[in-house]
Amino acid sequence: MPPSKQAMFTAQGSTKFLVPDVPTVSSKRTVFTEQKTNSNRMSQMSRYPKQTIILSTRNNKIMLSPMSRLSQPGKCCSLSHKATIDAILSTMSARFSYLSHLQCSVCHRHYDPEALHTTSPCCSRPLLAQYDLAAVAHNLTPDEVAQRDATMWRYHELLPVREDRHVLTLGEGMTPLLAAPRLAPRGLEGEARLYVKDEGQNPTGSFKARGMAAAVSRALELGVSGVVTPTAGNAGAAMAAYAARAGLPAYVVAPEDAPETCMLQARLYGAEVELIPGLISDAGRLAANVAQERGWFNVATLREPYRAEGKKTMGFELAEQLDWHLPDAIIYPAGGGTGVVGMWKAFRELRDLGWLKQTRLPKMIIVQAEGCAPLVRAFENGQDEAEAWPAEQARTQAAGLRVPSAIGDRLILAAVRESGGTAISVSDDAMAEMVRYAAQREGMLISLEAAATIVAYHALLAVHSAKRVSILKPGDVTVLFITGSGLPDVGKISL
Ligand SMILES: [Zn+2]
Repeated sequence: MPPSKQAMFTAQGSTKFLVPDVPTVSSKRTVFTEQKTNSNRMSQMSRYPKQTIILSTRNNKIMLSPMSRLSQPGKCCSLSHKATIDAILSTMSARFSYLSHLQCSVCHRHYDPEALHTTSPCCSRPLLAQYDLAAVAHNLTPDEVAQRDATMWRYHELLPVREDRHVLTLGEGMTPLLAAPRLAPRGLEGEARLYVKDEGQNPTGSFKARGMAAAVSRALELGVSGVVTPTAGNAGAAMAAYAARAGLPAYVVAPEDAPETCMLQARLYGAEVELIPGLISDAGRLAANVAQERGWFNVATLREPYRAEGKKTMGFELAEQLDWHLPDAIIYPAGGGTGVVGMWKAFRELRDLGWLKQTRLPKMIIVQAEGCAPLVRAFENGQDEAEAWPAEQARTQAAGLRVPSAIGDRLILAAVRESGGTAISVSDDAMAEMVRYAAQREGMLISLEAAATIVAYHALLAVHSAKRVSILKPGDVTVLFITGSGLPDVGKISL
């Protein structure tokens, strides 16, 4: 083993630990020299190679210090057992992913991230991926991220895929954040600090590409033989694309009125597509059965841990594009709600990493369709969970919002409340009108779901102008999430 691959540790007394198998580490933080020291202890250490590191524990926290910064290094060197060293090694080594464990979103029980999981066995609720954020903070800086390729994989340390070679990418992520003042109500263009995050520019035309890139890559890494998803449209097209990229067989099941372009896309990517009468919840049951019969993996929204991780990158990008500040408010169309769950998680991770230049997090404002608004109803009633919307009453032209129950309901409602946000429902007619408004006022071709965010923005500003108190003012930096391209909806919009 060449010296550069070794780390030598010194501990109190004369105990020495030689750890021969340390991955090459980031030199500027972890390789310290002993040249500037002069105590007896240091001269004793001077025969050690350059990789000598002083470890110490203070207030039960592990400290790493370059020798040159220690006035009395001997007093600081206390290391007791191998577990401590393992923890420090784990902090030091640069890894592709710092995924540490999976956690039940209800009771916080931990699960092994190297096994395939669906929902938590304890509570049958979403499992969330957790990372060794202290180690990420030690090994990565925002400046390093800024040098990387413009895809969501620039944040690979905070994504679940262990090895670079398992990343399936079609260039997803780093979508533009565009100023769009003319999407504000007429007369407020000059005042509005309004932006859109254009997710329609992702591969397959929607934000679903992010979640599927992460989930299918990780599923492939964990050795699945096929993938399955229920979909309202875009998710099916996205999963089919990444399955094709992986060389995995894919099965997509959707309500029979799902957008035809999405279904044609999925078929073109080679997926088996089944259309059924009913809603996405019915498609969800069939997908679960098919996955079980065939031994394939079901990547339905929040029924596995990693789609939310891909969607989390929307939050990372937003912060990076705003120079590590966050907007005052985010308006997001919520069907299954993974985008909201993912972004809220992203903001807290960034805050824990110490990368944000402010600690206040944005107001998370969710929008649903009047014809299917279980989360809005739960929010207004002060409930922590959303009762399912009656299937026979779930009606909206915005296919992505026709989701009568969301398994992530608790997480979504918690994010909205903790952030000081709100939940609003809007009509299909208002959405269609805003599709035209966005096309004509800013040259943006957006989906009905995305248009719901503009309706909500206008509605909140109207409340402000009427009452002078509101959750949102025109001067608040607000980001609308254009979750998908308007191409699949073009036929639904009258001119
Ligand atoms: Zn649990």
